[in-house]
Amino acid sequence: MERKLSRRQLLRGAVTAAALIPVVHLGSRPAMAQERMPENDPMAKALKYVHDIDAHPDINRPDKAGVAGADQYCHNCALYVGDDEWGPCTIFQNRLVAAEGWCTAWVPRG
Ligand code: SF4
Repeated sequence: MERKLSRRQLLRGAVTAAALIPVVHLGSRPAMAQERMPENDPMAKALKYVHDIDAHPDINRPDKAGVAGADQYCHNCALYVGDDEWGPCTIFQNRLVAAEGWCTAWVPRG
């Protein structure tokens, strides 16, 4: 009887441990939000994203919503979350973009 109970407890422990594996795995993996958006990512290229827009005078930034192209940066884009040097961008699945960056999806903060 005692042996059966121990085996049952062992099984419960194994089931509990198996159930926790995905949670532990997620907890130990860096969140996607912590990854910097590479400029050579296909989506970044499609939207002409660059980390430092001032270093790319060749990229045309059209005026949008009354904001001159030259005044558009990730740090004043509505899709930029945060106010650090790098912050998550919702259009890039919350991967980090540079505050001084820019892409064609820029929209003014409201
Ligand atoms: S959507 Fe806005 S915050 Fe995101 S990369 Fe483009 S300009 Fe930067």
